Amino acid sequence: MTHMETILGIDLGTTNSEVSIIRDNNIIVIEKDGRKILPSVVGIDPAGNLLVGHPAKNQAVLYPERTIKSIKRRMGEDIKVKLGDREYTPPEISAMILRTLRSYAEEYLSQQITKAVITVPAFFNDNQRAATRLAGELAGLEVVRIINEPTAASLVYGADREKSETLLVYDLGGGTFDVSILRVENDVIEVLASHGDTHLGGDDFDQRLFDYVCDGFKKKNKIDLREIPVAANRVLQAVENVKKQLSTEPYASIKEEFIADKNGNPLHLDMEISREHYEEMILPLLEKTIICLNDALRDAKLHPSDIDEIILVGGASRTPLVHQLLEKRMNTALHGEIDPDLCVTMGAAAQGGLISGANVGRVLIDITPHTLGVRTIDKETHDYYLFSPLIKRNTPIPCSRSEVYMTSCDNQERVEVEVFQGENDDTRHNAMIGNFSLTGLSKVPEGNEIICRFDLDISGMLHVSAMEKITGLKNAITVKNALINVQTNEHVGFKEHLNQFFANQEFGPILEEEEEDDDEVALSEIENFDGGRPPEGWETTYANEVAIFRKAVVVSPKVSEKDAIEIGKLMKKITDAIQKDKRDDAASYASELEDLLYYLEDSV
Ligand code: AMP
Repeated sequence: MTHMETILGIDLGTTNSEVSIIRDNNIIVIEKDGRKILPSVVGIDPAGNLLVGHPAKNQAVLYPERTIKSIKRRMGEDIKVKLGDREYTPPEISAMILRTLRSYAEEYLSQQITKAVITVPAFFNDNQRAATRLAGELAGLEVVRIINEPTAASLVYGADREKSETLLVYDLGGGTFDVSILRVENDVIEVLASHGDTHLGGDDFDQRLFDYVCDGFKKKNKIDLREIPVAANRVLQAVENVKKQLSTEPYASIKEEFIADKNGNPLHLDMEISREHYEEMILPLLEKTIICLNDALRDAKLHPSDIDEIILVGGASRTPLVHQLLEKRMNTALHGEIDPDLCVTMGAAAQGGLISGANVGRVLIDITPHTLGVRTIDKETHDYYLFSPLIKRNTPIPCSRSEVYMTSCDNQERVEVEVFQGENDDTRHNAMIGNFSLTGLSKVPEGNEIICRFDLDISGMLHVSAMEKITGLKNAITVKNALINVQTNEHVGFKEHLNQFFANQEFGPILEEEEEDDDEVALSEIENFDGGRPPEGWETTYANEVAIFRKAVVVSPKVSEKDAIEIGKLMKKITDAIQKDKRDDAASYASELEDLLYYLEDSV
């Protein structure tokens, strides 16, 4: 047995740091006390003990003179910072964080570790890189490589190294933002452009919420919580939680009892903040990130359509408004399979694995294969079948999301909650996997808020609830097996449905939109071939095509309607080419169809 050396993969962040290792060819992020994230904060407590991570973060507002945050911003500068009664250089402070991470990994593995790969922002200069290397050495680690954070993130996304790809990494952390465009070709990763703002991140979102809460409190009670360190600390911690909650919920509350007192009477803080309002507060900040993104695209001389993949990094990139703005600008859907907090450390570990010769497999994560959502109505456009996704495809599970919907009539007493699985904007093309109603709603004008919540667990159980916000009136259902593709089963029914359509024209059009006519034609192509024998002569001249058609007929009932249409469309193209005697075209479409069938067969 060969001994594989362990090399730590460390993301030494401005706000948070993480460490991971490779074990049995898998990447493991090291946890300590159930937490994978170590705040990059160092402090000295009143008794003179060194604090690193959460305890240091907790004392930050109370004892600012004994706490150091965001030392990464000072790396490479010739300065000293005061901590307690001693002064330290930035690499020395960073070394305390690295030493802590190293000890977590050693505890986990019960062995000493002396090597690490450490990540730095793409814009770090030589001085900053040298300071990072020095910090590693001070922590007893040989820094075998310093790699760029976006490069590390791209390693985990397992971009297919055989292909050349252009990736965009959008990294929004606690205190810094950067966006990089990478070109991956034959295992070589090149940073084409990198832009950012070293003073923009989730902490600024906290600050906006903090000011909003303190202003509100001051208006009501004539007391400024910012002037009371203990209270300010509590509010700051609370607003960070509110912010995180608003990433998945439409509302979040902040409740802090006995936050202050006035003339001997205790005052409590009790406030509710909506996501909508929060988004208004942070929109100007996020718009700045889009400007940086535009600059990066311009520098790389690329258009959004040239980007093959968008990778989200940094805790604050979980903010739904970030996704919305990015999807709009890049004109594409995002996927977030990998925890944005962890992909940099994981990539560093993957790099360490490559250096030590481990065969790092794909990073496996449990994700939802389909989007889950509810049907809604758009009164203005009279669209009664709008699909409103709550849990998007490729979301890691378990997960929870909630959204707020409004009643559309005055005195509306009930709402129907119909739960769908699928990717189409029109629920009629998705599969309904459950429904229930919420009745006895208050007699109020339209716009009564109903909060719909989805909780999806690892075994595929989906708990759906709907609650009237003003009263708390609630109803719920549990859908078993929400992860199984219902359309697969329904497709058997769909074929019958289609047969019926052709047998009985009075049935009327099942598919309304114009482009769906093509879909019908495509599906009838499968039907036609299904029943009949291949036309004369095909079997000799087009034996390959015929064989592929036969396979298509077997595979199509097992796949979704959307995929069946794709199959039918290709069959139609092949048939047309054969009829025009364009053999090359027929062969090339046939090979495309073969690939598709191969792929679909694998996934059913
Ligand atoms: P990082 O520097 O990458 O660790 O990012 C930390 C920042 O992400 C902090 O400002 C966190 O409050 C923020 N953050 C973490 N989780 C979430 C979340 N679920 N939604 C919004 N922001 C988050």
